[in-house]
Amino acid sequence: MSPPDAKPNETGYIHHLHADQFDDLVPQALANVELRGALAKATNTIRNRRAIALEEIDDLQELRSRAKSIKTEALAHLDDHLETFERQATANGIHVHWAADAESASAIVLDIAIKNKTRLAVKAKSMVSEEIGLNDALIDAGIVPVETDLGEWIVQLAEEPPSHILAPAIHKRRREIRDLLARVLGRPMPDDAAGLTEVARHELRARFAQAELGISGANFLVAETGSFLLIENEGNIRLTTSLPRVHVAVAGIEKIVPRLKDLGPLVRIITRSATGQAISCYQTLVTKPKTSPEDDGPEEIHLVLLDNGRSKLLEDDLTAETLRCIRCSACLNVCPVYRQIGGHAYGSVYPGPIGAIFTPQIAGMHAASQLPGASSLCGACREVCPVDIDIPGVLLHLRHRAAEGDQSTGNHPEADPRTTEKTQSMRRGFRFWRWAMGSSRRFQVFGAVGRLLATVIRQVPSLTKYAGPLAGWTDGRTVPRSPGRSFRSGKMARRLRPEGQGRA
Ligand code: SF4
Repeated sequence: MSPPDAKPNETGYIHHLHADQFDDLVPQALANVELRGALAKATNTIRNRRAIALEEIDDLQELRSRAKSIKTEALAHLDDHLETFERQATANGIHVHWAADAESASAIVLDIAIKNKTRLAVKAKSMVSEEIGLNDALIDAGIVPVETDLGEWIVQLAEEPPSHILAPAIHKRRREIRDLLARVLGRPMPDDAAGLTEVARHELRARFAQAELGISGANFLVAETGSFLLIENEGNIRLTTSLPRVHVAVAGIEKIVPRLKDLGPLVRIITRSATGQAISCYQTLVTKPKTSPEDDGPEEIHLVLLDNGRSKLLEDDLTAETLRCIRCSACLNVCPVYRQIGGHAYGSVYPGPIGAIFTPQIAGMHAASQLPGASSLCGACREVCPVDIDIPGVLLHLRHRAAEGDQSTGNHPEADPRTTEKTQSMRRGFRFWRWAMGSSRRFQVFGAVGRLLATVIRQVPSLTKYAGPLAGWTDGRTVPRSPGRSFRSGKMARRLRPEGQGRA
């Protein structure tokens, strides 16, 4: 691993966000057999653990509705709770900052880092820091960010984005990790998971003591006490929030809960839904900086409240549901699409079903209008969601907006002309369909043409490559055998037809 004063790009994290290229990325992911094998194994394990952990709860539905109502109440009075949080946290000695968008959030953290002469920052896993592109901003300023969550550290060394909300390196097999560490650290690596974890522990330990700044996200913000809660298993978050002299947490405004006692049901449901644990190994509730030299913890704490398009979602009851998400990732592990293509194909910080509804609303429809199509609408995501978000409903709403040509741009100024093109060709297609189905004569003619085409394509599937937008249609499909004549011209239809009516 590089020392703190190494060139930034040696430990740098490269952002590759391209949700607008979803259609192009999916075939690559599907062709990767290793990836699909790793995903199937890991998501099956987490799903089974979750199912066992939830079976142990007698009052599961009650717990889910309690969690849902806490989040719903918090969002219904979000502005009041945020003001209370700011007041309480400030009284505790925490510096609260407001960031309207990703750029200003990054700028605030950077400013704090520079004022504190930071060369090395240790980071706890935080999806929001990915959302705001924080590592790139730090690297550009000559500051080395070191991810300290094991999976996040692995993907940082591989210069890849995380591919799962909770398990960033879920797509990597053990031997890939072994080879990666051997290459980066320049020495042979053990072959077993425990040995590799020991290497990571050894490499990262010193960084906590060297870092001038610790950076984290937050699972929940408690308005009543002005505290923030961090949930983890590895102990790296506790070290990140304790050892560096200065700590900065960045959290979306939707993380607020009104009261301290609200954490009970939420922690019970999030750990079971996320990892299948009754309780995680560590919960760190940060309320104030240290007040005497004997205390543990940072001397200075900052909390950045990020909007980045979230408050817009509150304008509509359906889209507001998106903000109830507690980032447990249960919906990813059951989604038949995510389980086949993994997180990178989404081209979005937030993959899976939650990413398919959150990213287009935050980044803008122009940048991610393909993502709501990444679902079979089977409803498995809603079934497991601990806060009962109507993900299929929001997906349909966003598909409708995409079909209507919604080009809203979130916080980003450019529009993607490909979205318009696609919407227009879909419209043309449906207009033609309506015309073709609009008279029984045309219905008959196109039915006959369809049967003829099906017969020909069955014989020569490669012909579809000359079929314009349908080119390649047979690559993943088998054309059904043509019945030869239509149902309506058959004996059964003749018998069912009322007296005196000819063939339609
Ligand atoms: S949408 Fe529901 S299931 Fe998915 S990450 Fe959020 S809380 Fe978990």
